[in-house]
Amino acid sequence: MTDSTSQATESTNQATSSMNHATESTNQATSSMNHATESTNRATSSTGQATDNTDRAMINTTRTMISFEEAQRTILERAVKGTATADLPIAEATGYVLAERIESGIDMPPFDKSAMDGFAFRHDEHTSVNAFRIVATIAAGDRPGAQIGRGECARIMTGAPVPAEADTVIPVEDTSLLDSREGIPDSGDPVAGGNGERVRFHSIPSKGAHIALHGEDIRAGNTALDKGHLIQHLEVAVLAAVGRRTVKVYAGPSIAFAATGEELVEPGSELGPGQIYNSNASALRSQILAAKATPHSLGVVQDKADDLRHKIAEGLRYDMLLLSGGVSMGKYDLVPDVLRKLGVEIIFHKLLVKPAKPTLFGVKGKTMVFGLPGNPVSTVYAFDQYVAPAIRVFRRHPKPQAIHYCGKLTEAVNKKTGRLLLLPCVCEWVDGQCMLTPLANHGSADIFSIAGANAIGIIPSEMKGVEKGTVVNFRKLYEY
Ligand code: AMP
Ligand code: MG
Repeated sequence: MTDSTSQATESTNQATSSMNHATESTNQATSSMNHATESTNRATSSTGQATDNTDRAMINTTRTMISFEEAQRTILERAVKGTATADLPIAEATGYVLAERIESGIDMPPFDKSAMDGFAFRHDEHTSVNAFRIVATIAAGDRPGAQIGRGECARIMTGAPVPAEADTVIPVEDTSLLDSREGIPDSGDPVAGGNGERVRFHSIPSKGAHIALHGEDIRAGNTALDKGHLIQHLEVAVLAAVGRRTVKVYAGPSIAFAATGEELVEPGSELGPGQIYNSNASALRSQILAAKATPHSLGVVQDKADDLRHKIAEGLRYDMLLLSGGVSMGKYDLVPDVLRKLGVEIIFHKLLVKPAKPTLFGVKGKTMVFGLPGNPVSTVYAFDQYVAPAIRVFRRHPKPQAIHYCGKLTEAVNKKTGRLLLLPCVCEWVDGQCMLTPLANHGSADIFSIAGANAIGIIPSEMKGVEKGTVVNFRKLYEY
């Protein structure tokens, strides 16, 4: 049954594109992807072993399968780049990509600034002056303009303007105060002490030390951040430092999503015979939000061509449409056919990957479509591995591809050749090494055993068993 309450379009605070913007022409270029034509060789292990039943079924029913790497490449080539922008308060722009060049309107620092708590003085006097007379105390925030004469210095705080006559700051810890009686060390705090005292310098710093010169970081008119720069926390500080309160960023996509299946019931309702809770829709919603996109639930869709057609047609009005379930080989797995009939170009449908083999990627106009296998592990992983990079492309992320790390397996892993294995793992730093502990589960439906995974080990298709201690590539989970 369709959940009418979840059909309402959600409004969130996120910067989301209006639906279906113009696509960049470069992006429309057809990928040069060659679908690897499936042959019996491919699904047979290199050691000549027979493949399992699943693989036999696969060979008989489909001719086009692509590798994990090719799927990744294809998504990066064919994903649609968003064009809509949004103005966000700078602290809410973290993770977005700049849609404008940020020019500094000011010199930074705007004045010669002390980088230490200490004393500002003229460097060439240190050989002739035994003890400098303190004639001013300058705090951060004081107006520039304090003056010192010969043999004099100014007590100065970090961030305070350096007197024009001074060229060096000596840190307070390299000095000692003398009281009014010559040569007797003052017991007071050199920073808090009053003016009119004298101070002796010990290790003299080099000329110019501990002064940040006017404009040495950036000059007015120069670029602080380029268009296309990914905003992280440091960039938020840069934006604030040049006086910005809001910033123009590329908006995230509006993503329609639906779970297909007659057996699905929303959490909170009673389960009837043969029914299970719809866990994919909630997982997808949380992943969509984490990926800085806006979710629009289409509810649960029945495994009937009419219902699917209706909901998919609605979903094709968004920047992206995600469907869970109904993409495998069963009699009621109608999604690929309905997509095709609605004019979606299916770019790939089957992957030489375990889990989430029947993942589908298609495009219609400016809408990207993903069909994610319904098993809950597959849905979450397929979002992570295939949908998330497409969202990053949409959001103009400068490095949309996932980052690979290396880790050492703490246990042996069994696997057949022919399909790359995505292995749920816990990655942790132990004795100076990144260790990957695989989490055993009984299949793609078993989300319970792998809760807590933070990494996906990538075991190449040609590898058979992998021994304990082998260093393998992995990706962090949920790096959106
Ligand atoms: P399918 O991909 O539609 O063949 O579904 C594969 C398996 O995943 C079946 O056992 C389904 O019951 C289960 N499944 C499909 N959709 C969901 C969902 N939204 N939430 C939880 N399990 C699901
Ligand atoms: Mg189904």
